[in-house]
Amino acid sequence: MRTVKTCLLLLSLLFAATAVLPAQGARYLKPDRIERKTEADDEGLQKWAKWPDLKCPSCKGVGKTTCQTCARFSADAKNCPECKRVEKLLAPCRVCAGEGKIPDPLKLAPCAGCMGASFLVCTVCGGGGQLRVGGAKRWSACPSCRGKGGFPCTGCKGKRVMTSLRLKPPMMDAPPDKLLKAMKDLDKMIALFDKITPVGGTKSRKTVKAMGKAFAAGKKIHPAFKDLAKLSKAYMSKIFAGSQFQGHEENEANTIKMLKSNAEYYLKHQKRMMQLALKRAEANAAKGGK
Ligand SMILES: [Zn+2]
Ligand SMILES: [Zn+2]
Ligand SMILES: [Zn+2]
Ligand SMILES: [Zn+2]
Repeated sequence: MRTVKTCLLLLSLLFAATAVLPAQGARYLKPDRIERKTEADDEGLQKWAKWPDLKCPSCKGVGKTTCQTCARFSADAKNCPECKRVEKLLAPCRVCAGEGKIPDPLKLAPCAGCMGASFLVCTVCGGGGQLRVGGAKRWSACPSCRGKGGFPCTGCKGKRVMTSLRLKPPMMDAPPDKLLKAMKDLDKMIALFDKITPVGGTKSRKTVKAMGKAFAAGKKIHPAFKDLAKLSKAYMSKIFAGSQFQGHEENEANTIKMLKSNAEYYLKHQKRMMQLALKRAEANAAKGGK
């Protein structure tokens, strides 16, 4: 009995150290402040100006940053799904997908699933892939990720970025009526995510279902949302494999919170770009152009 208690205590200590933190250090563009200039052509119609190669504010153009996953691991840790524990623990920058510059926000945005990490971290072990059980000396493979430390993101298929909502014609050329219709679908999805309250324990199963539905609601405006609906459920079922450990409720709630905020970032980003696209399309429609 005493051993069991010791295990739980140790595991709860581990949880305290590996709880999900917001992407510290990564500085993403604020969606409502993104600007996208237009310029008038010979007929006075607004065309999109060329996107300047905006230097990434997060990595200052380098394309790499100190790994956010394993920064707090012990020095002898061997496993990290983000940087693979390479020298200096440098990982591709999540904000610019390792490019050093921000891609045209009319075309690309950080992935709605992983927000640029290319994987979802295993929050049961914090990404290290192992847990210390049975006293302080022995490590064993994490029951959730089986030692891998994370799960590949199927939203971006490892690309870290997602294309804009798949409208026809594309968002940047779409006429006002198409944009207004797509905006309704987007608002519906935003409202569904807004209603999700991250909780842990038995109640979280229902929340995970609701989140799957929220993702699936967007499959008309982007096929990746279908993949993300599946992924969010599969990922959370892995996280629930850690439910024998103390502190798991809080960890589950934090994991749901992370999924929710990653999705909301992409949705807000798309809403902003759609508003800019609408402004341009309406100005041109008023002049009789398209
Ligand atoms: Zn960057
Ligand atoms: Zn790392
Ligand atoms: Zn794990
Ligand atoms: Zn992704």
